[in-house]
Amino acid sequence: MDNVTEFTFKPIGIIHSCFTQKFGIPRQPGLVTAATAELELLPPFNRRECFNGLEVFSHLWVSFIFHETLSEGWRPTIRPPRLGGKKRVGVFASRSTHRPNPIGLSVVKLKSISQESDKLSLQLSEIDLLDGTPVIDIKPYLPYSDYIADASNGFAPPPVANKPVTFSQQAQSFCHQYQQVTGRNLSLLTHQVLSQDPRPAYLQNSYEREHSIQLWDVNIRWHATPDDFHINYMEPVNN
Ligand code: SAM
Repeated sequence: MDNVTEFTFKPIGIIHSCFTQKFGIPRQPGLVTAATAELELLPPFNRRECFNGLEVFSHLWVSFIFHETLSEGWRPTIRPPRLGGKKRVGVFASRSTHRPNPIGLSVVKLKSISQESDKLSLQLSEIDLLDGTPVIDIKPYLPYSDYIADASNGFAPPPVANKPVTFSQQAQSFCHQYQQVTGRNLSLLTHQVLSQDPRPAYLQNSYEREHSIQLWDVNIRWHATPDDFHINYMEPVNN
């Protein structure tokens, strides 16, 4: 067998994401349209000419490293949450983060390219990326060849948003003030994230626990009822 060489990748950029913890990140991009991130380009790739022409594309392929689970290694089989966490499939039949080469691949929306002195960044949305994710490559998404209308979803059909999301009075006024100060639509992001029901499969029929989730620098406490997801309380993370 040819001697297979090992490669080292140099990140071209770092993701600054609304998802500041793994819990709650949608399983794939495009599911939470309010999810935004900034891809800050790193030297020597933070040169505007490297991105000339990119602005005419609406979406990008982003290749990245699953840095948060690196230390957990890889497994030959995994139990996809979509199969209730019980059935095992091969790691290469999944989009698991625990892969021999921990490379992720997401199609995300390109909102704009911004430059402030030597800081060059891409503003992205509809992401599924954790804050701090190292990016190793980006390419324009080409629907004529990348979109396959009759492709099969296999055992991973698109998730359905199943229950309404309701906000306590305190959460509503927190979102309003937060948006006044930061310009961020916390209410919409929270609504879209919770409507994906981020809880693990084994908890999806239980209603006793209060859960907490972190989006940007906000801690959100919520619980599920048979009829909705109710947001009890919101507060700044370092409160
Ligand atoms: N769209 C990518 C793909 O198919 O390769 C990622 C799919 S993976 C199932 C999506 C999950 O990866 C998210 O729900 C989140 O929990 C996890 N994730 C996102 N960024 C990560 C990071 N930097 N390190 C580890 N896990 C990450």
